[in-house]
Amino acid sequence: MPGELVVLGSLNLDLVLPVGRLPTPGQTVLGGDLRRHGGGKGANQAVAAARLAGAAGFVRLVGRVGDDPDGAFLLADIAAAGVDVSGVVADPGSTTGCALILVDDRGENIIAVAPGANGRLDASDASRAAGPLSAGDTLVCQLEVPVPVVAAAAHAARAAGATVVLNAAPAVTVPADLLSDVDILVVNEPEARALGAADPAALAARTGCAVVVTLGAAGAAVAPAPGVTTTGPVTGVPSHPVDIVDTTGAGDAFVAGLALARHRGADLVEAVRFAVAAGALAVTAHGARGADLSPERVRALLH
Ligand code: ADP
Repeated sequence: MPGELVVLGSLNLDLVLPVGRLPTPGQTVLGGDLRRHGGGKGANQAVAAARLAGAAGFVRLVGRVGDDPDGAFLLADIAAAGVDVSGVVADPGSTTGCALILVDDRGENIIAVAPGANGRLDASDASRAAGPLSAGDTLVCQLEVPVPVVAAAAHAARAAGATVVLNAAPAVTVPADLLSDVDILVVNEPEARALGAADPAALAARTGCAVVVTLGAAGAAVAPAPGVTTTGPVTGVPSHPVDIVDTTGAGDAFVAGLALARHRGADLVEAVRFAVAAGALAVTAHGARGADLSPERVRALLH
Protein backbone atom coordinates (compact mmCIF):
# COMPACT_ATOMS: atom_id res chain seq x y z
CA MET A 1 0.00 0.00 0.00
CA PRO A 2 1.56 3.35 -1.00
CA GLY A 3 1.95 6.15 1.58
CA GLU A 4 -0.40 7.22 4.33
CA LEU A 5 -4.09 8.07 4.03
CA VAL A 6 -5.16 10.60 6.67
CA VAL A 7 -8.73 11.77 7.32
CA LEU A 8 -9.11 15.05 9.22
CA GLY A 9 -12.66 15.55 10.44
CA SER A 10 -15.60 15.13 12.76
CA LEU A 11 -16.64 12.34 15.10
CA ASN A 12 -20.22 12.33 16.40
CA LEU A 13 -22.42 10.14 18.50
CA ASP A 14 -25.61 9.68 16.45
CA LEU A 15 -28.75 9.29 18.56
CA VAL A 16 -31.43 8.01 16.21
CA LEU A 17 -35.09 7.83 17.19
CA PRO A 18 -37.60 6.26 14.77
CA VAL A 19 -41.00 8.03 14.89
CA GLY A 20 -44.24 7.44 12.98
CA ARG A 21 -44.43 11.10 12.02
CA LEU A 22 -41.97 13.95 12.57
CA PRO A 23 -43.25 16.35 15.25
CA THR A 24 -44.31 19.90 14.35
CA PRO A 25 -43.05 22.79 16.55
CA GLY A 26 -44.52 22.47 20.06
CA GLN A 27 -45.72 18.89 19.46
CA THR A 28 -44.47 15.82 21.37
CA VAL A 29 -44.43 12.42 19.70
CA LEU A 30 -43.54 9.01 21.12
CA GLY A 31 -40.88 7.10 19.22
CA GLY A 32 -39.55 3.56 19.02
CA ASP A 33 -36.24 2.29 20.39
CA LEU A 34 -33.43 4.85 20.62
CA ARG A 35 -30.32 3.72 18.71
CA ARG A 36 -26.80 4.98 19.49
CA HIS A 37 -24.10 4.66 16.90
CA GLY A 38 -20.93 6.26 15.64
CA GLY A 39 -21.24 9.04 13.05
CA GLY A 40 -19.65 12.26 11.83
CA LYS A 41 -18.40 12.63 8.26
CA GLY A 42 -14.72 12.36 9.22
CA ALA A 43 -15.17 9.15 11.20
CA ASN A 44 -17.58 7.67 8.61
CA GLN A 45 -15.09 8.29 5.79
CA ALA A 46 -12.17 6.87 7.78
CA VAL A 47 -14.14 3.72 8.65
CA ALA A 48 -15.31 3.28 5.03
CA ALA A 49 -11.75 3.70 3.71
CA ALA A 50 -10.37 1.14 6.17
CA ARG A 51 -13.08 -1.36 5.21
CA LEU A 52 -12.62 -0.79 1.47
CA ALA A 53 -8.85 -1.20 1.86
CA GLY A 54 -9.33 -4.43 3.83
CA ALA A 55 -6.26 -3.51 5.86
CA ALA A 56 -6.13 -2.43 9.52
CA GLY A 57 -4.04 0.54 10.66
CA PHE A 58 -3.50 2.07 7.22
CA VAL A 59 -6.09 4.89 7.56
CA ARG A 60 -5.33 7.48 10.27
CA LEU A 61 -8.13 9.67 11.68
CA VAL A 62 -7.35 13.08 13.20
CA GLY A 63 -9.98 14.94 15.24
CA ARG A 64 -11.35 15.45 18.74
CA VAL A 65 -13.89 13.90 21.08
CA GLY A 66 -14.73 14.90 24.64
CA ASP A 67 -12.93 13.18 27.51
CA ASP A 68 -16.18 11.36 28.33
CA PRO A 69 -17.86 7.94 27.94
CA ASP A 70 -19.37 8.88 24.54
CA GLY A 71 -15.89 9.72 23.25
CA ALA A 72 -14.49 6.43 24.55
CA PHE A 73 -17.38 4.56 22.89
CA LEU A 74 -16.68 6.23 19.53
CA LEU A 75 -12.93 5.59 19.66
CA ALA A 76 -13.39 1.90 20.49
CA ASP A 77 -15.93 1.52 17.67
CA ILE A 78 -13.70 3.23 15.07
CA ALA A 79 -10.58 1.34 16.17
CA ALA A 80 -12.50 -1.95 15.89
CA ALA A 81 -13.14 -1.07 12.23
CA GLY A 82 -9.38 -0.95 11.62
CA VAL A 83 -8.77 2.81 11.79
CA ASP A 84 -5.67 4.21 13.54
CA VAL A 85 -7.19 6.57 16.15
CA SER A 86 -3.88 7.70 17.69
CA GLY A 87 -4.51 11.14 16.15
CA VAL A 88 -7.87 11.65 17.88
CA VAL A 89 -7.55 13.74 21.05
CA ALA A 90 -9.87 13.29 24.06
CA ASP A 91 -10.34 16.99 24.87
CA PRO A 92 -11.03 17.54 28.60
CA GLY A 93 -12.52 20.99 27.92
CA SER A 94 -15.50 19.85 25.85
CA THR A 95 -18.07 17.15 25.22
CA THR A 96 -18.25 14.63 22.37
CA GLY A 97 -20.12 15.86 19.28
CA CYS A 98 -23.68 14.58 19.10
CA ALA A 99 -26.30 14.43 16.35
CA LEU A 100 -29.98 14.16 17.33
CA ILE A 101 -31.82 12.43 14.50
CA LEU A 102 -35.54 11.76 14.13
CA VAL A 103 -36.53 9.46 11.23
CA ASP A 104 -40.14 8.88 10.21
CA ASP A 105 -41.55 5.77 8.57
CA ARG A 106 -41.10 7.25 5.07
CA GLY A 107 -37.37 7.76 5.70
CA GLU A 108 -37.67 11.58 6.09
CA ASN A 109 -35.54 12.97 8.89
CA ILE A 110 -34.76 16.06 10.94
CA ILE A 111 -31.30 16.42 12.39
CA ALA A 112 -29.68 18.86 14.80
CA VAL A 113 -25.99 18.61 15.68
CA ALA A 114 -24.11 19.74 18.79
CA PRO A 115 -20.54 20.02 17.41
CA GLY A 116 -18.92 19.86 20.87
CA ALA A 117 -15.26 18.85 20.54
CA ASN A 118 -15.46 19.00 16.70
CA GLY A 119 -15.75 22.77 17.00
CA ARG A 120 -12.56 23.03 19.06
CA LEU A 121 -10.03 21.82 16.50
CA ASP A 122 -7.14 24.27 16.14
CA ALA A 123 -3.73 24.61 14.47
CA SER A 124 -2.35 21.71 16.52
CA ASP A 125 -4.86 19.35 14.88
CA ALA A 126 -3.89 20.61 11.41
CA SER A 127 -0.22 19.89 12.27
CA ARG A 128 -1.03 16.43 13.60
CA ALA A 129 -2.89 15.63 10.37
CA ALA A 130 -0.55 17.13 7.79
CA GLY A 131 2.82 17.40 9.57
CA PRO A 132 3.98 13.84 8.81
CA LEU A 133 2.74 13.86 5.16
CA SER A 134 4.92 13.77 2.06
CA ALA A 135 4.58 12.92 -1.65
CA GLY A 136 2.53 9.76 -2.15
CA ASP A 137 0.34 10.47 0.90
CA THR A 138 -3.31 11.61 0.81
CA LEU A 139 -5.27 13.98 3.06
CA VAL A 140 -9.08 13.78 3.09
CA CYS A 141 -11.14 16.59 4.70
CA GLN A 142 -14.77 17.69 5.04
CA LEU A 143 -16.28 20.84 6.56
CA GLU A 144 -17.80 19.68 9.87
CA VAL A 145 -14.74 21.04 11.72
CA PRO A 146 -13.51 24.68 11.67
CA VAL A 147 -12.75 25.70 8.07
CA PRO A 148 -9.49 27.58 8.95
CA VAL A 149 -8.11 24.32 10.42
CA VAL A 150 -9.02 22.44 7.22
CA ALA A 151 -7.35 25.21 5.19
CA ALA A 152 -4.17 25.03 7.29
CA ALA A 153 -3.97 21.24 6.97
CA ALA A 154 -4.66 21.34 3.22
CA HIS A 155 -1.98 24.00 2.75
CA ALA A 156 0.66 22.03 4.65
CA ALA A 157 -0.27 18.76 2.91
CA ARG A 158 -0.12 20.36 -0.55
CA ALA A 159 3.23 22.00 0.24
CA ALA A 160 4.57 18.58 1.27
CA GLY A 161 3.50 17.09 -2.07
CA ALA A 162 0.53 15.05 -0.75
CA THR A 163 -2.81 14.79 -2.59
CA VAL A 164 -5.67 16.77 -1.00
CA VAL A 165 -9.28 15.58 -1.35
CA LEU A 166 -11.97 17.97 -0.04
CA ASN A 167 -15.56 16.84 0.43
CA ALA A 168 -17.17 20.30 0.71
CA ALA A 169 -19.98 19.10 2.97
CA PRO A 170 -22.01 20.47 4.62
CA ALA A 171 -22.54 23.38 2.23
CA VAL A 172 -20.75 26.27 3.92
CA THR A 173 -18.69 29.08 2.42
CA VAL A 174 -15.35 27.71 1.18
CA PRO A 175 -12.60 30.34 1.04
CA ALA A 176 -10.59 30.64 -2.19
CA ASP A 177 -7.31 29.99 -0.37
CA LEU A 178 -8.58 26.57 0.72
CA LEU A 179 -9.73 25.68 -2.82
CA SER A 180 -6.31 26.63 -4.18
CA ASP A 181 -4.81 23.80 -2.07
CA VAL A 182 -7.33 21.14 -3.15
CA ASP A 183 -6.59 18.54 -5.84
CA ILE A 184 -10.01 16.85 -5.96
CA LEU A 185 -13.24 18.53 -4.85
CA VAL A 186 -16.18 16.16 -4.16
CA VAL A 187 -19.71 17.53 -3.74
CA ASN A 188 -23.32 16.45 -4.18
CA GLU A 189 -25.62 18.55 -6.37
CA PRO A 190 -26.87 21.02 -3.70
CA GLU A 191 -23.28 21.52 -2.48
CA ALA A 192 -22.13 22.12 -6.07
CA ARG A 193 -24.83 24.78 -6.52
CA ALA A 194 -23.79 26.38 -3.21
CA LEU A 195 -20.26 26.70 -4.65
CA GLY A 196 -21.66 28.51 -7.67
CA ALA A 197 -22.06 25.89 -10.44
CA ALA A 198 -23.93 22.57 -10.70
CA ASP A 199 -21.96 21.59 -13.83
CA PRO A 200 -18.64 19.90 -12.92
CA ALA A 201 -16.69 21.53 -15.77
CA ALA A 202 -17.93 24.99 -14.77
CA LEU A 203 -17.08 24.27 -11.13
CA ALA A 204 -13.62 23.03 -12.12
CA ALA A 205 -13.02 26.25 -14.08
CA ARG A 206 -14.25 28.30 -11.13
CA THR A 207 -12.22 26.50 -8.43
CA GLY A 208 -9.16 25.23 -10.30
CA CYS A 209 -9.72 21.73 -8.82
CA ALA A 210 -10.66 18.43 -10.44
CA VAL A 211 -14.37 18.16 -9.58
CA VAL A 212 -16.56 15.15 -8.87
CA VAL A 213 -20.32 15.74 -8.45
CA THR A 214 -22.27 12.84 -6.97
CA LEU A 215 -25.73 12.29 -8.47
CA GLY A 216 -27.39 9.79 -6.12
CA ALA A 217 -28.88 6.83 -8.03
CA ALA A 218 -27.51 8.33 -11.28
CA GLY A 219 -23.88 7.86 -10.19
CA ALA A 220 -21.41 10.73 -10.59
CA ALA A 221 -19.97 13.24 -13.07
CA VAL A 222 -16.26 14.07 -13.26
CA ALA A 223 -14.39 17.05 -14.67
CA PRO A 224 -10.58 17.20 -14.70
CA ALA A 225 -8.75 20.20 -13.29
CA PRO A 226 -8.46 23.06 -15.80
CA GLY A 227 -5.52 22.40 -18.12
CA VAL A 228 -5.75 18.61 -17.77
CA THR A 229 -7.37 17.40 -20.98
CA THR A 230 -6.89 13.63 -20.91
CA THR A 231 -10.52 12.73 -20.24
CA GLY A 232 -12.44 15.47 -22.05
CA PRO A 233 -14.66 18.00 -20.31
CA VAL A 234 -17.12 15.86 -18.30
CA THR A 235 -17.32 12.07 -17.90
CA GLY A 236 -20.46 10.47 -16.51
CA VAL A 237 -20.06 7.33 -14.41
CA PRO A 238 -23.40 5.49 -13.95
CA SER A 239 -24.25 3.78 -10.67
CA HIS A 240 -25.25 0.16 -10.14
CA PRO A 241 -28.83 -1.04 -9.67
CA VAL A 242 -29.06 -2.11 -6.03
CA ASP A 243 -31.84 -2.67 -3.49
CA ILE A 244 -32.03 0.60 -1.59
CA VAL A 245 -32.35 0.22 2.18
CA ASP A 246 -30.95 3.52 3.52
CA THR A 247 -28.99 6.19 1.63
CA THR A 248 -27.38 7.61 4.81
CA GLY A 249 -23.60 7.45 4.46
CA ALA A 250 -23.58 6.88 0.67
CA GLY A 251 -21.67 10.12 0.15
CA ASP A 252 -19.13 9.20 2.84
CA ALA A 253 -18.51 5.74 1.31
CA PHE A 254 -18.14 7.42 -2.08
CA VAL A 255 -15.52 9.92 -0.83
CA ALA A 256 -13.62 7.12 0.93
CA GLY A 257 -13.63 4.95 -2.20
CA LEU A 258 -12.48 7.82 -4.40
CA ALA A 259 -9.64 8.84 -2.08
CA LEU A 260 -8.49 5.25 -1.61
CA ALA A 261 -8.49 4.35 -5.32
CA ARG A 262 -6.69 7.56 -6.26
CA HIS A 263 -4.21 6.98 -3.41
CA ARG A 264 -3.43 3.59 -4.92
CA GLY A 265 -2.70 5.18 -8.29
CA ALA A 266 -5.97 4.88 -10.25
CA ASP A 267 -6.68 7.70 -12.68
CA LEU A 268 -9.54 10.02 -11.76
CA VAL A 269 -12.30 8.31 -13.77
CA GLU A 270 -11.20 4.83 -12.61
CA ALA A 271 -11.24 6.12 -9.03
CA VAL A 272 -14.79 7.43 -9.52
CA ARG A 273 -15.87 4.01 -10.84
CA PHE A 274 -14.57 2.46 -7.62
CA ALA A 275 -16.27 5.22 -5.58
CA VAL A 276 -19.62 4.71 -7.32
CA ALA A 277 -19.47 0.99 -6.47
CA ALA A 278 -18.66 1.83 -2.82
CA GLY A 279 -21.57 4.32 -2.72
CA ALA A 280 -23.94 1.75 -4.21
CA LEU A 281 -22.97 -0.85 -1.57
CA ALA A 282 -23.51 1.74 1.18
CA VAL A 283 -27.21 2.16 0.32
CA THR A 284 -27.90 -1.57 0.72
CA ALA A 285 -27.75 -1.52 4.54
CA HIS A 286 -29.14 0.53 7.43
CA GLY A 287 -27.11 3.36 8.97
CA ALA A 288 -24.08 5.32 7.84
CA ARG A 289 -21.71 2.45 8.63
CA GLY A 290 -23.93 -0.61 8.35
CA ALA A 291 -22.83 -1.84 4.91
CA ASP A 292 -20.28 -4.54 4.19
CA LEU A 293 -17.71 -2.57 2.17
CA SER A 294 -15.22 -5.40 1.72
CA PRO A 295 -12.82 -5.21 -1.26
CA GLU A 296 -14.37 -8.46 -2.60
CA ARG A 297 -17.88 -6.97 -2.73
CA VAL A 298 -16.67 -3.85 -4.56
CA ARG A 299 -14.75 -6.01 -7.04
CA ALA A 300 -17.84 -8.18 -7.62
CA LEU A 301 -19.90 -5.08 -8.45
CA LEU A 302 -17.25 -3.74 -10.83
CA HIS A 303 -16.97 -6.95 -12.88
P1 ADP B 1 -25.06 12.43 -0.62
O1 ADP B 1 -25.51 11.24 0.17
O2 ADP B 1 -23.80 13.06 -0.11
O3 ADP B 1 -26.14 13.43 -0.94
P2 ADP B 1 -25.45 11.12 -3.20
O4 ADP B 1 -26.89 10.94 -2.85
O5 ADP B 1 -25.14 11.80 -4.48
O6 ADP B 1 -24.61 11.84 -2.04
O7 ADP B 1 -24.80 9.65 -3.20
C1 ADP B 1 -23.41 9.44 -3.22
C2 ADP B 1 -23.09 8.25 -4.11
O8 ADP B 1 -23.68 7.07 -3.55
C3 ADP B 1 -23.62 8.33 -5.54
O9 ADP B 1 -22.70 9.00 -6.38
C4 ADP B 1 -23.78 6.87 -5.90
O10 ADP B 1 -22.54 6.33 -6.26
C5 ADP B 1 -24.21 6.24 -4.57
N1 ADP B 1 -25.68 6.18 -4.46
C6 ADP B 1 -26.48 7.02 -3.77
N2 ADP B 1 -27.78 6.68 -3.89
C7 ADP B 1 -27.80 5.57 -4.68
C8 ADP B 1 -28.83 4.71 -5.18
N3 ADP B 1 -30.11 4.95 -4.89
N4 ADP B 1 -28.47 3.66 -5.96
C9 ADP B 1 -27.16 3.41 -6.25
N5 ADP B 1 -26.14 4.19 -5.81
C10 ADP B 1 -26.45 5.25 -5.04
